[in-house]
Amino acid sequence: MAANREGQEENKDRYFKAVHGNKTFLQSEKLYEYILETSVYPREPQCLKEIRELTYKHPLSPMMTSPDEAQFFSMLLKLINAKNTMEIGVFTGYSLLATALAIPDDGKILALDITKEHYEKGLPIIQKAGVAHKIDFREGPALPLLDQLIQHEKYHGTFDFVFVDADKDNYVNYHKRLIELVKVGGVIGYDNTLWGGSVVAPPDADLDEHILYLRDFVQELNKALAVDPRIEICQLSIADGVTLCRRIG
Ligand code: SAM
Ligand code: CA
Repeated sequence: MAANREGQEENKDRYFKAVHGNKTFLQSEKLYEYILETSVYPREPQCLKEIRELTYKHPLSPMMTSPDEAQFFSMLLKLINAKNTMEIGVFTGYSLLATALAIPDDGKILALDITKEHYEKGLPIIQKAGVAHKIDFREGPALPLLDQLIQHEKYHGTFDFVFVDADKDNYVNYHKRLIELVKVGGVIGYDNTLWGGSVVAPPDADLDEHILYLRDFVQELNKALAVDPRIEICQLSIADGVTLCRRIG
């Protein structure tokens, strides 16, 4: 019994750490460090490093996209020649800056966040990097903003890439709108789709309340994406899991 409880505590800790701590499902921390030290940090632009180090001092720093995931998106954006993009969930702007650096000089990012408080901390670094002109930041809840866009036909099928990294309980609602706004052939990336591994935890698992509450929404999203005929999907186990959706119809 005691061993069982101990096991549950261990699991609880593991799920919590995967969402809020280091971002990896690799079996060893050492291997993750190896990837970062060998392939990610040496290639990370100075301005991204600056925003990352600034964000580490923030009490909510675990929300920041991991550097290996940012490197992945940076490559993906270039591979698909993304120019018109959107990000839902900016925080201090780490993934936003990675996107801004990856798209061409006349590229655009519609950046949505419920508050500009954190973005303002990263903004001087983004400005110094010379890419602030690509960013159209809008403060407010993302859903009504998407509804406004949807009302105008001119925005339909116009986005090459959308990164969704905000309130998980709205992901299914975001998807209903984003599928209209992204181009056929364009990509939507939903972040945290493994939710610390909690998606496979037993229904009665003793998990942190916040993780447990959002776990149901993440599971619902994963199920909905898997059967959506308008997209092709690819579930990646990088960071806390990211699901790429390519619009096909
Ligand atoms: N992509 C960011 C990065 O790389 O640092 C991390 C984003 S953080 C995980 C989530 C962000 O979503 C927070 O900055 C939060 O303010 C924002 N957010 C939460 N609810 C939101 C909503 N309803 N609409 C828009 N943004 C929201
Ligand atoms: Ca995230």
